[in-house]
Amino acid sequence: MNKDLNFDKQHIWHPYTSTSNPLKNYLVKSAKKSKLKIDNNKFLIDGMSSWWSTIHGYNNKKINKSIKKQLKNVSHVMFGGITHDPAIELCKKLNKLTSSNLDTHFLCCSGSVSVEVALKMALQFWHSQNKIRPKFLTIKNSYHGDTFAAMSITDPDNSMHSIYKGFLPEHIFAEPPKSQFNGSWNKKDIASISKLLDENKEDIAAIILEPIVQGAGAMRFYHKNFLTEVRKLCDKYNILLILDEIATGFGRTGKLFAYEHAKIQPDILCVGKALTGGYMSLAATITSKKIADTICNGPSQCFMHGPTFMGNPLACAAANASLDIIMTNKWQKQVQNIEYIFSNTFPKFLKYELVKDIRVLGAIGVIELHHNINIESFQKFCVKQGVWIRPFKNLIYLMPPFIISNKELLKLLKTIDNYLKRLR
Ligand SMILES: *Cc1c(COP(=O)(O)O)cnc(C)c1O
Repeated sequence: MNKDLNFDKQHIWHPYTSTSNPLKNYLVKSAKKSKLKIDNNKFLIDGMSSWWSTIHGYNNKKINKSIKKQLKNVSHVMFGGITHDPAIELCKKLNKLTSSNLDTHFLCCSGSVSVEVALKMALQFWHSQNKIRPKFLTIKNSYHGDTFAAMSITDPDNSMHSIYKGFLPEHIFAEPPKSQFNGSWNKKDIASISKLLDENKEDIAAIILEPIVQGAGAMRFYHKNFLTEVRKLCDKYNILLILDEIATGFGRTGKLFAYEHAKIQPDILCVGKALTGGYMSLAATITSKKIADTICNGPSQCFMHGPTFMGNPLACAAANASLDIIMTNKWQKQVQNIEYIFSNTFPKFLKYELVKDIRVLGAIGVIELHHNINIESFQKFCVKQGVWIRPFKNLIYLMPPFIISNKELLKLLKTIDNYLKRLR
């Protein structure tokens, strides 16, 4: 084995990976557009957008240029008592792109942290009104990140709450809606969350949801009426609604934000992942001036959070270029095209007996199998054919960069088909 890869295997801890029995890691030397170049000069077509993030592809000229320009001015400066042009420009853009009630922006350094910030905002919103509301209400199969508070509202089974029991705060989990995005709406889907909300209304600070797409927890797409009904419940009980658009934001589901499918507005919104076009870690928690002022007019007089790298200028410069590309609206055609191709090809996978279900929405395509998949052998097969896809549990899914070509898309689909054919 290559010496460096051997060092990696001995000394570097990769995500969700065993140190005693690590999965194989591939050495990426460079990347361009939709392709990763690995160590033996082989190119892999990327079906994952590096976990939902590199929507405009790798080594994007506009984003590169924006970061280089900022590098000559200032790479980082503290955000306490200081502000800078890239942050101001970014928040102006987010103001324009997100729903009209959202006008107050808190920049932070990762998706999980933006969820922590959203939860703290909700808690402090009630604290400022002399109320203690220590609970959050959410649905099963959700995923909101790996830090403690984010993990506490992530599906109890998927995130292995049992390991951290006694330390993790315990929140309230309703049944997720069964009505699918493209199916008909069953009114009973709202019963579980509605009942739990009524029973715990004095304790709940906010409901938090991934809108429409339950991502890393399940890869399921639910009916938009669920969101509309939850919004109504939040209004009725005067409870905040937090939407986590870290995976879905910036076009992935065919709308700029997934909440637009349901024509609702969140009280607090989390964005991350594709915000910088997948270049750097940056996220934002966005709320209304009214909620922000309520927090700050309370006894603590300010919001108690301040990450060291808050509003990092290089990350803001990457985000500004990425949002400029978004604002040309080319993503709409690109995502529609990916959805069209997925809708025409994914149903064909149902002919294989080991396939339980297929789902397509925007630039996301999912194959659910009856059994868990062997990741290592699947990846070996894919890499041999020149594609990069990383499944989890019993799910093989694609969420390619928006700029992917039809030829590359068909290669991804062909590879999955060849794999399923082999397993048959
Ligand atoms: C990825 C993700 C997060 C966590 O973001 P990180 O940047 O990985 O911390 C939170 N919520 C959702 C819905 C995500 O997909």
